Amino acid sequence: MCYRDTASQISHLSLCLFHHRYSPVDGLLTVSDDGLYCPAGDFHIDPHRPVQRAVVTHAHGDHAARGSEHYLTSAEGEGVLRHRMLDGASIQTLSYGETLDINGVTVSLHPAGHIRGSAQVRLEHGGEVWVVTGDYKVAADRTCTPFELVECDVFITECTFGLPIYRWPDPADVFEKINRWWKKNQEEGKTSVLFGYSLGKAQRLIAGVDPSIGPIYCHGAVQKMNAVYREDGVDLPPTTYVSDENALDDWSEALVVAPSSAGGSRWMQRFDPVSTGFASGWMRIRGNKRRRSLDRGFVLSDHLDWPNLNAVIDGTGAETIYVTHGNNDSFARWLNEEKGLDARELPLRSQYDG
Ligand SMILES: [Zn+2]
Ligand SMILES: [Zn+2]
Repeated sequence: MCYRDTASQISHLSLCLFHHRYSPVDGLLTVSDDGLYCPAGDFHIDPHRPVQRAVVTHAHGDHAARGSEHYLTSAEGEGVLRHRMLDGASIQTLSYGETLDINGVTVSLHPAGHIRGSAQVRLEHGGEVWVVTGDYKVAADRTCTPFELVECDVFITECTFGLPIYRWPDPADVFEKINRWWKKNQEEGKTSVLFGYSLGKAQRLIAGVDPSIGPIYCHGAVQKMNAVYREDGVDLPPTTYVSDENALDDWSEALVVAPSSAGGSRWMQRFDPVSTGFASGWMRIRGNKRRRSLDRGFVLSDHLDWPNLNAVIDGTGAETIYVTHGNNDSFARWLNEEKGLDARELPLRSQYDG
């Protein structure tokens, strides 16, 4: 065995020891079978199973499980969360920045800029401040309140795109590309079908394209969320639900917005001939477009990219960082070794909504 092998084994071993010794998180928050838990306040944050009291960062499925006794969410997020929950769910709300005392823990919610109503959770107890980001982004999005930097001692951050390859173009340029693609498809007699997550991304897309180019049609899952956004006062251009009653002989003038799960389904056949596009941070990787048999990939994410992720972590002033929702191991190592922070992996269940 050569020297280099031994050295890498030792460093791997010490990393394992390091992680086993310190994970999972404990202190003001810990990880229970149901997810992130605050023992002092006796509540969970984004539990993946029903609990007594759930503080919910946002209404995406991997953060907002149904069936809990009581929910706390941002006032801006009430509409979307109610839509996702069972009828009659007990939902209490806080305006951004408003505080609530839960068993001696001071809780407040701060804009995360990810989707409508998304919030970071700030906890203050015993002179310590912890912040849990949920999903977040700093890029412009007029469908939700912009991200706010919150200083803290301990920062629990998602790192969905925590690798240096993930750098986002200016969203304005991405929308220009989408508009050009739509016009080109019209000239070629093809329907433009644009895929994006039905809650959040789809509404951001609809709010960002140029509606003077042609009519916008939506898959049912998207149109339902559009209605919730409009009820909340978000100004979206007119959209029409794709149904048999609204069927067109020729769809080539239209932009159709749909969740990616609709790709390749029978629902799609009516639009032939089509050009398909997908708006996601994952489109930064060329192979992802090819693997999904898409004609176009638009790099537009509701998470932050590598430079912004690092800038936010620096900006919080936190010395202890827990990372989750991504390439946790490599990102924690980067923060430890390159930034001299006390960074650890947080094992939480997650899904990547891009
Ligand atoms: Zn999300
Ligand atoms: Zn998520």
